[in-house]
Amino acid sequence: MVEWVEALLKLQELDVSAAKLEARLAAIPVQEAETRKMYQAETDACAAAKKSVQEVELTIRKLEGEINTLKGQKENFQSKTSLIKNNDEYRAALLQIEQCDRAISVDEDKQIIAMDELETAKKILAEKDAKLKEAQKHAEGMFADLEAEKADCKKKLETLAAKRPELATAVEPAILKRYDRLRTARNNNPTKPCFVSVDDGCCGRCHLSVTSQEANDTLKGKVVLCNSCGALLYSTK
Ligand SMILES: [Zn+2]
Repeated sequence: MVEWVEALLKLQELDVSAAKLEARLAAIPVQEAETRKMYQAETDACAAAKKSVQEVELTIRKLEGEINTLKGQKENFQSKTSLIKNNDEYRAALLQIEQCDRAISVDEDKQIIAMDELETAKKILAEKDAKLKEAQKHAEGMFADLEAEKADCKKKLETLAAKRPELATAVEPAILKRYDRLRTARNNNPTKPCFVSVDDGCCGRCHLSVTSQEANDTLKGKVVLCNSCGALLYSTK
């Protein structure tokens, strides 16, 4: 293999590694946002369950208040009946007592239903609470892992950046310029090589055939660009 090819391959290996680290670094905030979103969803679900419990508790308290008021009214009517001498008035008072009893009975039925609802709501709250704790644990672990990965990526990138000038100097300036232009081109994916070998007469990047002239030129160690995708070509022979 020609000397410049070997030097450029070493440089490219470093650049591709650095690009992969950069891509990983760029993806971390997305993962963090997803984790935050998941945790927020569990927080919201827990808050909604808590609200349901509070609402049912409020209903029960209201019913209790109503029942107490009705019981008071009933006692009031009962105490008055002993003083009533008139039959019609007496019957009317009894009717009112009966109405109080009926209303109390209706509220007590409602109370029983509300108690069942409360039990269900509390069970749901306990489940959501447990899920939230789990989500919190997961999120904390995730954030710690991502933070560590971020630091690791940055450290590796620093090492690669420090090493790059030495590898770049080993490549002929004209070739380096060409390679750098290719590598930083807008349509180039920097995590994939742009300096590729010719395999079975095809470009290693776009896999389209190269002419026999181009293949021959790579064999001679000449600088050849793929006609189809513009990749910089070399021969492994
Ligand atoms: Zn190509």
